[in-house]
Amino acid sequence: MRSTKIVATLGPASSDPAVLERMMRAGVDVVRLNFSHGTTADHEARAELVRETCRKVGRTVGIMADLQGPKIRVGKFREGKIPLKPGDPFILDAACELGDGSRVGLDYKELPRDVKAGDVLLLDDGKIVLDVKDVRGHEIHTVTRHGGTLSNNKGINRQGGGLTAPALTPKDIEDIRTAARLKVDYLAVSFPKSGADMYMARELLRAGGGHALLIAKIERAEAIPALEEIMVACDGIMVARGDLAVEVGDAAVPSLQKRMIRQARELNKLTITATQMMESMISSPVPTRAEVSDVANAVLDGTDAVMLSAESASGQYPVEAIEAMARVCIEAEKSQPVTLDREFLDRVFQRVDQSIAMAALFTAFHLKVKAIASLTESGSTALWMSRLEFGVPIYALTSQTSTRYRTTLFRGVFPLIVRYIGHDREELLHEAESVLVKNGAAKEGDLIVVTIGEPIGKSGGTNTMKIVRVGEHRRA
Ligand code: PGA
Ligand code: MN
Repeated sequence: MRSTKIVATLGPASSDPAVLERMMRAGVDVVRLNFSHGTTADHEARAELVRETCRKVGRTVGIMADLQGPKIRVGKFREGKIPLKPGDPFILDAACELGDGSRVGLDYKELPRDVKAGDVLLLDDGKIVLDVKDVRGHEIHTVTRHGGTLSNNKGINRQGGGLTAPALTPKDIEDIRTAARLKVDYLAVSFPKSGADMYMARELLRAGGGHALLIAKIERAEAIPALEEIMVACDGIMVARGDLAVEVGDAAVPSLQKRMIRQARELNKLTITATQMMESMISSPVPTRAEVSDVANAVLDGTDAVMLSAESASGQYPVEAIEAMARVCIEAEKSQPVTLDREFLDRVFQRVDQSIAMAALFTAFHLKVKAIASLTESGSTALWMSRLEFGVPIYALTSQTSTRYRTTLFRGVFPLIVRYIGHDREELLHEAESVLVKNGAAKEGDLIVVTIGEPIGKSGGTNTMKIVRVGEHRRA
């Protein structure tokens, strides 16, 4: 069994229903709709197909909408692309319509106001480096440091960050409405730089009737000093290593990844580790040793999920990439020592439901029970338990479809359906047991821990923990 979850980006390589089905059978837990590409109709059709395939395969796979955000890009070239050699002068010109070998336009017209002589601009994920020599009105004059082929609409970052484009563009605001309408389970916000950016996204989502969990993509230099307030304002973060590495320097990213994952867990937030995890599998059926190590290390860092981008969206081996990730995660998890964190013993709880969650995991750990069954309306009890690694699978048993899908990203949490919605405690416990048994999570005679909110059928928080031997009360 694998605790770490797999997110796969959908694209042309995963549009075929048969391929999507194989991806689901290979173990994908959440699919990502990348709103940087494609039309609203494309995303609708994809979401529809994902839900249909879930029913067919009998799996619960969440949907994450990922907003494009204010990525600053160069405009288009007359020839589609141009060559740049070291030493070549090049102008980024906010007033240019169609670029050539000497200049190109900008989608963010304010960029010349944000940069100054001495700045370093990184284009196409840092593959091309330009030194800013001078800013004259709407023109940024640069000299090429590292050249290459620059093609239409490539992204621009400034080393050290600090470009002021607002976090949510008009397109993002429209896409949030679409995401709400599609009832996606997760909404990822690109380039937030403060908690306020996340609150704004949440308000727009709620106004559109959406209830997705909010993921902040950490990919700007400014987001690092604001990490705590961003985390408090969202439900989880993505370590978005592509843009982040361009802004803060590639060498700073591994330690930031570790720090962010630890801090997120302490604040009861989710984490996704993303970008280039299996990059070579875009065109190779097997990963490199370095990629295997990267995925394994993210697991050991405690990430909830590892993510595939181009590997599953446009690569040649989307299914193999998921299979490779799955086997690496399982092996890494096996090597992880199962102990209760020392710091755990010093934690202070104020909430009743959170105290029950902690008591349940403490008990489950010491009694070495087979499983925890968390009968949950909102999924929060399962989330709290999953913030610590203690070697017992957590089953989130819920009658709420939205809750079931929202737990797909939680590490070590497995969503299951209970259909019982009456008020009888024994009937509910009985059904919970049979659901566990039917899904191979426990068998007659196994000890399990159950968390539940009483009285049954009244919504309110979890307030009860029970230790149950499966089948016992039926025999009595
Ligand atoms: P992107 O985000 O794929 O939307 O750019 C991830 C990253 O920047 O790493
Ligand atoms: Mn990015």
